[in-house]
Amino acid sequence: MKNILVVEDNERNMYLMCYIIEAMGHRPLRAVTGEEGVKMAVTERPDLILMDIQLPGIDGLEAIRRIRGSMACPSIPIIAITSYAMTGDRERLLAAGCNGYIEKPINSETIMAELKTYLTGPGSHAAAKGEDTLTPSGERQ
Ligand code: MN
Repeated sequence: MKNILVVEDNERNMYLMCYIIEAMGHRPLRAVTGEEGVKMAVTERPDLILMDIQLPGIDGLEAIRRIRGSMACPSIPIIAITSYAMTGDRERLLAAGCNGYIEKPINSETIMAELKTYLTGPGSHAAAKGEDTLTPSGERQ
């Protein structure tokens, strides 16, 4: 089971993403503002972050920069959730430090595919850190 932080101010999107995360056997952590998201990223050190870009207060881009700037969690995969359709946004998102992005309106297939890619692929967070994922009983997950 992985801890996945969802930073999203839209109730429907939050519900959908958390529903999918739980259905996949993972644990969602919820934050509804950028500030709260940064705080939870640093203290909880989740395995993955889904970050909405349009948020009240600091936006998702600034939140990503702050998370990347904190020594506590430099390598956590961050997937931006964006409704921006302008040219150049991809570069802005990647420059801020996210690993990928999903365009709104989000759908469950896309979310599931992204989660699988970042949590179980050869380039996953655990693999990138060279860590084995062990359960408390010592079994490999
Ligand atoms: Mn939003």
